[in-house]
Amino acid sequence: MGTVDTIVHLVYLACATCFVIGLHLMNTPATARRGNQVSAAGMAAAVLATAVLLVRDQAVTVGALVALTAGTAVGTAAGLITARRVRMIAMPQLVSLFNAVGGGAAALIAVAEAIEHADRLAALPLQTTLTVVLDVAIGGVTFTGSLIASGKLAGTVPGRPIAVPARRVIMTVLTAGSAVLAVLFLTGRGGVAALAGITAAALVGGVLATLPIGGADMPVVISLLNACTGTAVAMAGFVLGSTPLIIAGALVGAAGAILTKLMADAMNRPVRAILAGGYGTGDEHPTGPAGGAGPVREIAVDDAALQLAYAGKVVIVPGYGLAAAQAQHEVVALARALTDRGVEVSYGIHPVAGRMPGHMNVLLAEADAPYPELKDLEEINPQFGRTDVVLVVGANDVTNPAARRPGNAVSGMPILDVDKARSVIVIKRSLGHGYAGIDNELYTDPKTAMLFADAKAGLTALIAGVHAYAA
Ligand code: NDP
Repeated sequence: MGTVDTIVHLVYLACATCFVIGLHLMNTPATARRGNQVSAAGMAAAVLATAVLLVRDQAVTVGALVALTAGTAVGTAAGLITARRVRMIAMPQLVSLFNAVGGGAAALIAVAEAIEHADRLAALPLQTTLTVVLDVAIGGVTFTGSLIASGKLAGTVPGRPIAVPARRVIMTVLTAGSAVLAVLFLTGRGGVAALAGITAAALVGGVLATLPIGGADMPVVISLLNACTGTAVAMAGFVLGSTPLIIAGALVGAAGAILTKLMADAMNRPVRAILAGGYGTGDEHPTGPAGGAGPVREIAVDDAALQLAYAGKVVIVPGYGLAAAQAQHEVVALARALTDRGVEVSYGIHPVAGRMPGHMNVLLAEADAPYPELKDLEEINPQFGRTDVVLVVGANDVTNPAARRPGNAVSGMPILDVDKARSVIVIKRSLGHGYAGIDNELYTDPKTAMLFADAKAGLTALIAGVHAYAA
């Protein structure tokens, strides 16, 4: 091994260390930003070191090098501009779109390798051809699956479960057909045509797997697709013999798999059952309506502010509406105003609140909410019994008592037990549904009072009201 190779491998080692340190820093919102920067620096160094190797080995023509540089420049600029410009509310669909791009790029690497070695595919070792097959299969499913998920989050594809006639039969045919084509490819008889068939089946499979998932189950699917992106990238690393890609892909794959398990546990659903479809449709246990019929009680801002100002313990439950209204600074300001009056305040964070894993933590961290005040589901639920007022801000599904009964789209999902508190104030604009598309029985609970307002406007009025009582 020459000096350049040694240096490049040392750089790769440093990059791998950066990825692991970066992941570790993402453990808490306080250091997450630095974690991202460290990981990105590691990846930039890996790309640079690989480019040095390519030039040294004269493995790329000048034209290819120009194309690579231009591609990197365009990709970097597009990523930077989109990520900087995106509104926080559109972040979940952007993350899903990035997943699609990752999976698609990984699949394309395998296809390009297969085309390049088309005349001697049979001579390639099994570890290469097998990873090529896995790469296109996983990358293809991830590409179209993530595009559909992104569309569902953005509202361009209906969020409700979309039934595809004979879906299971089609999926079985696609899987069996892909298996046959994979055997042909691996034994050197199918060539690029077999790989094209597997790719097409994977692309269709991604659409069919994601369309019927709806209700409240999207978080599990999104984290699963994230795990698939990582796995596809790791496969691409094997195909190219690139250590940094294998390590980065394996880390993303493993982290995504752990997140998927956490999300599935949070929803109280087996991952296998969600993928098989049927959950979130509301018809898996055809008993009883979702509820929610009955009168609701409205509350004026002054009365709500009075109740909050003179409470001993308040729990704030943020949800997607807080993100939609970009009211994170206002909610933290209200919490501070209450804390200043001696009220004990904490935030109850449901793991699937919002539209992406960790959405509420990210929002509240941005507004500098004190981290110890953020309590997860297990920690906060036992506290609701001794809470004077729960202030629900733009949350819906994660508070719906209907989850405790079978027969609806949120059945079985552990919820924040806000209805156990002495009183509940809900800020939202109307009696509109949440992502799962069903009525919320909490709103007709006699303990609940509705403050119909945009979250930002409602919170701003409450802050003024609480300050007025302090004067
Ligand atoms: P929901 O989607 O259940 O409800 C959000 C509520 O916010 C709506 O009912 C809406 O009511 C209200 N709202 C919207 N805009 C505003 C505004 N400007 N001001 C005040 N209120 C507003 O949110 P939750 O956080 O409770 O639950 C998340 C749901 O999303 C779950 O079903 C979850 O499974 C799903 N999901 C979660 C993902 C994740 O990873 N976290 C990913 C994909 C889906 P109104 O219109 O009346 O104001």
